[in-house]
Amino acid sequence: MVNGLYLEKPGQLTWIDVPVQERLHDDDVKIRVIYGGICGSDIAVYQGKLTHAHYPVIPGHEILGEVVEAGAKAGLKVGQRVVVQPNSYCGTCEQCQAGNANICSGKKSLGINNQGGFSEEFIISSQYVIEVPDALVNERAIFIEPLAVIVHAFKKVSVTKDTAIAIVGCGTEGMLAVALASYYGAKITAVDINDEKLNKAKQHYPNIEICRPEEVSDNQFDVVMEVAGVKSAFEQCIEIVKPGGAIVAIGLPPTAEIPVVTLVRKEITVYGSIIYNVPDDFTKSIDYLLDASFHVEPIISEIISINHFSEAYEKAVSGDYRKIILSFDESISST
Ligand SMILES: [Zn+2]
Ligand SMILES: [Zn+2]
Repeated sequence: MVNGLYLEKPGQLTWIDVPVQERLHDDDVKIRVIYGGICGSDIAVYQGKLTHAHYPVIPGHEILGEVVEAGAKAGLKVGQRVVVQPNSYCGTCEQCQAGNANICSGKKSLGINNQGGFSEEFIISSQYVIEVPDALVNERAIFIEPLAVIVHAFKKVSVTKDTAIAIVGCGTEGMLAVALASYYGAKITAVDINDEKLNKAKQHYPNIEICRPEEVSDNQFDVVMEVAGVKSAFEQCIEIVKPGGAIVAIGLPPTAEIPVVTLVRKEITVYGSIIYNVPDDFTKSIDYLLDASFHVEPIISEIISINHFSEAYEKAVSGDYRKIILSFDESISST
């Protein structure tokens, strides 16, 4: 019996004996889950806002765990800590062939349209598992996957110490963008409607400017990253970017109104950036996290026992927190 979170349909989350793969194939590993990060997409699936989600589903794709059983050809040892690369691809389409599997139309994702990882343990093919170096503590390793999203986004543009960059949205991904831009020594302005989030950002990254959307003036930034996922935020990006500048859209507002005249006259480039390329972006993510001068600890708002999963989801849904992490160390079944 394996207990896990089970989302019967939007809003109906329970902790039950979940249906999981039982037999280990040669290239599979069984993972005991240590931490699970609650991500924006988990919230969207929980709220029924992701049209390609399949229910019922075991949620969760930001998984840190430990190998407890390994198939003969898995190439991993019992006791090895790992994170999961949670997306599968067709492998044969033009995009997959070109190394851009992240934009494969046959992509499937754990916790969305494949069973996810918010359970005590689960079996997965070793091809979706990435080893965590011993030097990386759990509280940094849990960021490997979400940071890979930001690593990928930063590849679209050039960010150096001379770059004026606005990061619009100070949730987890926004703060990871602040962390990476700080690492490059860029001139950072973090924008959010939530003063508490702004103050926290300033407290932990003292070299940045913080401001509310109405305080940002137009034509200020070489690069603007939209990480809020909000229509008005995306629209403002077009105003605040400098002529000749670039916008990287990471957030997912369903629609926005684009003033095409402004876009054309300012010669703005808009990049969409979705998840990451594997393994490159994961490898880079691990490299950053191994460097102690790369600050991510403040991005964890709370580590909450799976016993209190409802509270964890409520906090994540509220939008008032950064990363909420579920700890599976003492799950309900063992208490
Ligand atoms: Zn995620
Ligand atoms: Zn494909």
